[in-house]
Amino acid sequence: MDIQLTINDIALTVPEGMSILDAARTINIDIPTLCYLNLHEMKLNNHIASCRVCLVDVEGRRNLAPSCSTPVQHGMVVKTDTPLAIQARRTMVELLLSDHPKSCLTCAKNLDCDLQALAADLGVRNISYEGEECEFKIDTSSLAIIREPNKCILCRRCETMCDDVQTVGVYSAVGRGFETVIKTAFDLPLHETSCTFCGQCLAVCPTGALMELDQTDKVRKALNDPNRFVIVETAPAVRVALGEGFGLEPGTIVTGKMVAALRRLGFDRVFDTEFGADVTIMEEATELIHRLEHGGRLPMLTSCCPAWVKFFEHQFPDLLDVPSTCKSPHEMLGVLAKSYYAETYGIDPKKITVVSVMPCVAKKYEAARPELGQSKVIPDVDIVITTRELSRMIREAGIHFNHLKEEDFDHPLGESTGAAVVFGTTGGVIEAALRTAYEWLSGQTLEKVEFEALRGMDGIKEAVIPIGDRDFRIAVTHGLGNARSILEKIQAGEAHYDAIEIMACPGGCIGGGGQPYHHGNVDILKARANAIYQEDRSKPLRKSHENPAVLALYKDFIGEPYGEKARQLLHTSFTKRRKI
Ligand code: SF4
Ligand code: SF4
Ligand code: SF4
Repeated sequence: MDIQLTINDIALTVPEGMSILDAARTINIDIPTLCYLNLHEMKLNNHIASCRVCLVDVEGRRNLAPSCSTPVQHGMVVKTDTPLAIQARRTMVELLLSDHPKSCLTCAKNLDCDLQALAADLGVRNISYEGEECEFKIDTSSLAIIREPNKCILCRRCETMCDDVQTVGVYSAVGRGFETVIKTAFDLPLHETSCTFCGQCLAVCPTGALMELDQTDKVRKALNDPNRFVIVETAPAVRVALGEGFGLEPGTIVTGKMVAALRRLGFDRVFDTEFGADVTIMEEATELIHRLEHGGRLPMLTSCCPAWVKFFEHQFPDLLDVPSTCKSPHEMLGVLAKSYYAETYGIDPKKITVVSVMPCVAKKYEAARPELGQSKVIPDVDIVITTRELSRMIREAGIHFNHLKEEDFDHPLGESTGAAVVFGTTGGVIEAALRTAYEWLSGQTLEKVEFEALRGMDGIKEAVIPIGDRDFRIAVTHGLGNARSILEKIQAGEAHYDAIEIMACPGGCIGGGGQPYHHGNVDILKARANAIYQEDRSKPLRKSHENPAVLALYKDFIGEPYGEKARQLLHTSFTKRRKI
C-alpha cells in the first residue's frame, strides 16, 4: 500500500513501511545520521536509533521522532528543519563530544570521521557539557586492527556488520549507561578471538574507534635503508579506488599514475599483484583438473582471501581439505620476487623487502602467517599497507598525484592479463579460472570470455557451465554470512558444486576494509566494479595462460604448474583454530 504524507510542505507518496528518513531522501532532503547504516544489497540494516541525530518534528507528536526508525504514516506532516529539531541534533552531538577524546587533529580518521563532519555541518562551536570521560584500554594485540574504545560512540554499526553480514560475532555492547562499551567475548584481545580481520567493521565505523594498523613508517624506514632492495606490488582493486583519495570520481582508473607515484616514493621495482593472480590461475586451474581426474574432494573453494581462510579455519575446521592450497596472489608474487627474480638478477633475497599495497586489512595479518614464506627468516611479503595508507604516503611526500604522467610496471613481474584484473571484484577469481580451465579441458578456444551469470552484487550467484562433455556447477559468494550459508548446505549434503569462489568483503576486494571509505554508498562499489571490467576489456590478453611472462616463469624456473617446485613455493596449508 502507498502512503501519502508531506515533508517540509512537499507532498509525496512512498511505499508502506518506509522510514521518514528514506522518504525524505526520495525528495532530496538529507537528514543527518550517525548510527544509521542501510546497504540493502549487502543486507545491512542498522537503525537502532541510538545516536538521535536524525530527530524530526512530526505534527501531533509531543516528542521529536528519530526519522531512521519511524515509519511513514498516512497524512503525516513532517518538518525536518525546525529550530527545535536542529537544536536537538546539535545537543545530541554535543553530548557525544562531551565524552569523546579531543584529539581530532592527531586521529588517524581526521577529515574522514562522520562525527567530526556532523559537528561541522551542525555548527557545533561549544561543548556545553563537561564531566568525566571514559578510559578504556586500547587493543593493539592484532597485526591488522587497532581498537580505541574511548573514541567509540556506541553506534553499534560494527556489531551489526560483524554479526549480521559476516556472522562472526566478535563484538557485543556490555555494561550500562556511562560504563557501556563494545567488547569482545571475555574481553579477549582481538587476536585471540575468531576475528577474520576482514576489516568490514572498521569500514563502517563512523569514528576512529576502529582503524587499521598503520605500517607506513616501516615502509619509509625500508625505503631509506641503502642496504634494502624495496619491491612494491599493487592489487587489482587498488587502481580503481586510489584516485578517490585525490578527489577523483569513484571508478577512475589510475594504474599509470599509481605506478609513477610509487617510483617517486623511491621503490626500486614496481610490480603488479596481477602477475601473481595469473600464476594463481595456472595453479588453481591445474589443481581443479587434478582433483577431477584423481577423485579429489569437491567442490574446490578459492583460497586467495585471507579473511575467508581464517573464517573457515575457525568455523569449519572439518573442511580444511576443501579449499585450494594456492597461496594468495600477493604472496605468490612475493615469493617469486625473492626467488625467481632475485636469482635472475643476482640479488640476495635477504636484502629484498616486499611491500604489498592492498585493498585489504586481513593481508596485514596474512603476511605474518608462519605457513607463508620460504623460511621463518624470509617471509614472502614483509609489509602490507592499504589503499588508504598509500594515499596518505603520496600526500605526505607532496606528490601532485593528479598531474603525474602515466608509467608502466616493471618487467617481468609487472605483466598481466585481463583475467588477473577481474580478481578485484566478486565473481572475478572463478571467471578467470574458467577462462583457462575451459580451454585446457575442452581443447577449444573460448571466444566469449565474460561469464555474466557470475557477475553483479547478488550475495550468492550460481551457474552451470558446459565444458566439453561435462556440466560444471559453479557458485560465487561474497560476505562471510553468505559463505556460511553455502558451507552449511555442503556439510549437510544439500548443495553440490564443482567450484566456489568466496570473498569475505561485500563486493569482493573493491569493497575491502582498506579501501577509501564508501560511507555506506553502494554506488561507489558499483563504479569500482565497472572500472575493473573496463580495465579487463582494454587488455590485449585476457586469459592467464596466455601471459608470456608467466609462461617464461614456468619454462625457466618452476617447471609444471602444480608440480613439485610449484607446490613448494606457491601452495600453503591451513590450521585448525578454536571458535571464540
Ligand atoms: S574484522 Fe571482520 S570479523 Fe573481525 S570484528 Fe571486524 S567485522 Fe568482525
Ligand atoms: S567501534 Fe565504531 S562502529 Fe563500533 S560502536 Fe563504536 S563507534 Fe560504532
Ligand atoms: S575480499 Fe579482498 S579485501 Fe576483503 S578480506 Fe578478502 S582479500 Fe581482503
